[in-house]
Amino acid sequence: MTTIETDPITSKYTEAREAVAQALNQSASACVTCSFQAEDMAVLHLVRERIPDVSVLFLETGYHFSEVYRYRDEMTRKYGLNLINVVPPETVEQQEVRLGLLYQSQPDQCCKLRKVGPLFHALAGYQVWFTGLRRVQSPTRANLQVFDQFPLPSGNKLLKVSPLATWSDKEVWTFAREHDIPLLPLYEAGYTSIGCEPCTTLPLDTGNARSGRWAGRKLECGIHIAGER
Ligand code: SF4
Repeated sequence: MTTIETDPITSKYTEAREAVAQALNQSASACVTCSFQAEDMAVLHLVRERIPDVSVLFLETGYHFSEVYRYRDEMTRKYGLNLINVVPPETVEQQEVRLGLLYQSQPDQCCKLRKVGPLFHALAGYQVWFTGLRRVQSPTRANLQVFDQFPLPSGNKLLKVSPLATWSDKEVWTFAREHDIPLLPLYEAGYTSIGCEPCTTLPLDTGNARSGRWAGRKLECGIHIAGER
């Protein structure tokens, strides 16, 4: 009898594709949240294999690096993405006049106004939400499940799907290379996790990719914590 060995990386990719297919069998009303980091580009690729015009939700806080805006626009043109910029009720200028630099004084409140609230509002139009979250990214994500029922403030639930939950950094990078996905140039400058510019530095701990986020003052913007209620 011949035993066929499956490459562990290939089987991870197969499992992720199966998770995407399983979720889309339940509903085609789907979106992908995309910060344009490497894992989001990987999950976006997997979902677009099935739904090329899937809604791509970008949290347009107004505080991103210019490199992120440039890369977002390049990728949108290259892949013909159905990009939806999710914007807060106030511009950066309006918020700063009214409340000052909230990212310094009250980052939780800033994330709530510019990320969490606008995203929850946008998600209300979908039944399936794909994310690029992975367990190794943070202790707060260690118990991440591929499939989760996510409660919105309205009380409605949607299916949150994280097909890359068990992927390592190497598996993300290998997937991007094998699928010719260009990556955000900020990685070449040493950034390992990239959010809003005022709240992102080079990693403070080389063993923790997210240690350059919020200078260690907090670990999450609040979106995914809310899902663990
Ligand atoms: S990451 Fe920083 S700038 Fe962006 S919304 Fe949160 S606190 Fe504000």
